[in-house]
Amino acid sequence: MSSKTEELKKIKDEILILRESPLYEYRVKNKYFPVIGEGSHEAHIMFVGEAPGENEARTARPFCGRSGRLLDELLASIGMDRKSVYVTNVVKDRPEDNRDPLPDEIALYGVFLERQIEILQPRVIATLGRHSMKYVFEKYGLGDALESVSKIHGREFAGEASYGPVTVIALYHPAVALYNGGMKQTLMKDFKVLQKYK
Ligand code: URA
Repeated sequence: MSSKTEELKKIKDEILILRESPLYEYRVKNKYFPVIGEGSHEAHIMFVGEAPGENEARTARPFCGRSGRLLDELLASIGMDRKSVYVTNVVKDRPEDNRDPLPDEIALYGVFLERQIEILQPRVIATLGRHSMKYVFEKYGLGDALESVSKIHGREFAGEASYGPVTVIALYHPAVALYNGGMKQTLMKDFKVLQKYK
């Protein structure tokens, strides 16, 4: 096993027994899985969503429901597919009834996201949604640039990671385009920014 694969497996093993998580009981009771992340370990681009939904928690795969199909479409619009990027979430277990993750949950699981970033060392982190945006901006030296997604979506920000510079791009969560058709065009335009990092 490559060392990246080994390090990522360690993260998975730790999350599997993360009994201190407020979402652990709910996972076990429903026979759900934690969703760690999926994609290329050599990816230049890492997508960070919010938290798994029902489909994801049943399959252990990120973005495998309707939002995921839209994510695939957006990637295809710039000639990319899932296999060439890495996709994960800030929170790795499903919050009940698809509620937003709580600050304590984001803090607990965010540490694992940071480890994934350290292992994979992406050149670009594209956040999908406001919680992942806030977490990543604050952790990578961009706290002062934080605004609402509607103000800063699709712009490139120069962040600082331990391994060097990292470009951070805030994107709308694909789910917004499922109930507001017009947003799909906005997302497609924003995705074009990612093309040069393929
Ligand atoms: N929404 C997210 O934020 N993440 C997923 O994995 C699925 C839906």
